[in-house]
Amino acid sequence: MDRGKMVVNSDECKGCGLCISQCPVGCIEFDNETINKQGYHPAKYKGSGCTACGICFNVCPEPGAITVYKLVKA
Ligand code: SF4
Ligand code: SF4
Repeated sequence: MDRGKMVVNSDECKGCGLCISQCPVGCIEFDNETINKQGYHPAKYKGSGCTACGICFNVCPEPGAITVYKLVKA
């Protein structure tokens, strides 16, 4: 089971790509099929691999764009 999960609030994303380039496991990508309210392709979680390291959250210049969840085994 993955240790974490990240979620992008698409309309807050400015499409800068920092989270994508800094994620150590490469589990974020641009959603090229979506254009948000600000006219950018937002980042999105690929759906697996997140370790909840928090780097994407820390590098993102938009305060409300990324949330990282730590997942615990049930
Ligand atoms: S928390 Fe870490 S592993 Fe998870 S998406 Fe963000 S940078 Fe990648
Ligand atoms: S770092 Fe933030 S603003 Fe930049 S692409 Fe990622 S979610 Fe969007």
